[in-house]
Amino acid sequence: MPALPADIRVALVTGSTRGIGRAVAERLAATGYHVVVHGRDEERAAKAAAEVRTATGGRTGSVHGDVADPAAVSAMMREIHRRHGRLDALVVNAGVHAAGLLGLVRGETVHELFQVNALGAVHTLQTGVKLLRRGVAPAVVLLSSIMGVRGGPGQAVYSATKAAVLGLALASAKELGPAGIRVNVVAPGFVQTDMLGALDAEGRASRIAATPLGRLGTPADVAAPVAFLLSPDAAFVTGQVLGVDGGLVL
Ligand code: NAD
Repeated sequence: MPALPADIRVALVTGSTRGIGRAVAERLAATGYHVVVHGRDEERAAKAAAEVRTATGGRTGSVHGDVADPAAVSAMMREIHRRHGRLDALVVNAGVHAAGLLGLVRGETVHELFQVNALGAVHTLQTGVKLLRRGVAPAVVLLSSIMGVRGGPGQAVYSATKAAVLGLALASAKELGPAGIRVNVVAPGFVQTDMLGALDAEGRASRIAATPLGRLGTPADVAAPVAFLLSPDAAFVTGQVLGVDGGLVL
């Protein structure tokens, strides 16, 4: 594959086969990035990359791997290095959700939430940094959650994993700032994706009622601020946590 010209920014968006990650991939591809779409499964990631290309007329590729597996994440980053030699933008988005009152969350669920949301973010950022150091105006956005900032009943374990993302991001912003790498966090409120799929009508209504803007967010509502934080318009913004929650956290 011929090397991309330096003015085409290369972005990796983890977990971009659907939901918020997919919307971010579409937004970036539509604005001229070469977007590396990522999913756990090779075929699904390639299919999503082709769909993003068709929908936007942009440039895409794909990689795959379980972010909870450090060897898989390293292999993914090696592949990006082989293809492009650099990363200009990294969106650490892949995540899982499970609710449960304290005392009722099974050990396997605790393990999976931490493996994917907390350790997966660590593996992705740690292995991505080498490529970001070779990037042009490199920037990272990590997806936390209002639950990681404020918590909520039945969300203790998920909230802990998303608070871990905050700690990772804030320390990284300080450590990587001198290398010119910006690191910011987006903390969505309730966004209409498969992650909210388990909600019944009552759960949905209560979340809408708690949101001052009176609706659930859409993946595109989150993609726009992510794109802003990756862009030159945010060139002096690092170490920030941007709530994208319809006013839920006021
Ligand atoms: P989603 O379930 O629609 O998509 C999650 C994506 O992550 C999928 O592409 C999935 O395949 C991928 N993924 C999950 N586990 C993975 C693994 N082990 N390895 C590789 N990929 C994996 O969810 P979403 O709502 O789009 O969530 C995206 C991010 O936003 C998550 O980090 C989530 O915690 C966060 N978030 C979502 C909401 C919301 O209301 N939807 C609110 C706050 C934060």
